[in-house]
Amino acid sequence: MNRIKLKLLLVLGTAFLSLGSYTYGAEKINVVTTTTDLADLVKVVGGERVKVISLSKGNQDPHFVEPKPSMVLELKKADMLVKIGMDLDMWVDGLIAAARNSKIIYGAKGYVDASVGIERLEVPKEKIDGSMGDIHIYGNPHYQTDPASARPMTKNILDGLCRISPQNCQYFKDNRQKYLKKLDEKIDTWTTMMTEFKGSNIVTYHNSWPYFARRFGLNVVEHIEPKPGIPPSPAHLSKLIKVMREKEVKVILIEPYFPLKGCKMVAEKTGAKILIFPPSVGGVKEAGTFLELFDYNINQLVKALAE
Ligand SMILES: [Zn+2]
Repeated sequence: MNRIKLKLLLVLGTAFLSLGSYTYGAEKINVVTTTTDLADLVKVVGGERVKVISLSKGNQDPHFVEPKPSMVLELKKADMLVKIGMDLDMWVDGLIAAARNSKIIYGAKGYVDASVGIERLEVPKEKIDGSMGDIHIYGNPHYQTDPASARPMTKNILDGLCRISPQNCQYFKDNRQKYLKKLDEKIDTWTTMMTEFKGSNIVTYHNSWPYFARRFGLNVVEHIEPKPGIPPSPAHLSKLIKVMREKEVKVILIEPYFPLKGCKMVAEKTGAKILIFPPSVGGVKEAGTFLELFDYNINQLVKALAE
């Protein structure tokens, strides 16, 4: 082989390699999620065959995310959209409409509502009116505060990814199975850690923890908010202090994005401890994944309840 031929072969080879990696990159499924928990679970199931971004950050209130033009651009490029549903992340609906991407509209292959199959709590039985505060008509949408919700959530994500990329379906299924094994082990550990605190009375700022409370046998006796989305009045706070003393409440759980003011006063008067409880991945730096989030929260809760 002469030199020129060898050189040509080298050039072609390099071109082929870079083309190969380019094609591989382009094959990745573009997923956009509304929350960071969903993004983490998409990574778990999709592995290196997906690229995922979350429209909200872990320290943001998922009810109220300010729509931005950059979000519409992300949705335009998306092959799949995953939302919490049950009206928690309603803000994404307008963005989906603005993106005009037929792949991710309601009913399309790439539209995934992660709440399908969730055993819903607090589904209202009577008619809803404005006096009830910011009530969710499909029930309490904070189901991701129960780690076991990752099972149906990842199932919905798996179904979406398999619809879009049937050739990779087995790979996604295997990823999910491996994760569920780890998840079950973790849930066993957390349940054991929480056993001695079963039946403990707790107070939470917003009504975001009923699924968590059910999983670990806690009683949420009151909320700092008198009604969802409504800040506490002095009258509500003094009633709360009375109830907390009677029921020997030791902890108040509050998300990083809610105001501490009312909580601090109540904590001082009752001796209860305020725990900053991130509900989402990235809410604190220690909670980089869905599993780390529960490690973080359960560790601090166990410590506070044992005091
Ligand atoms: Zn809520």
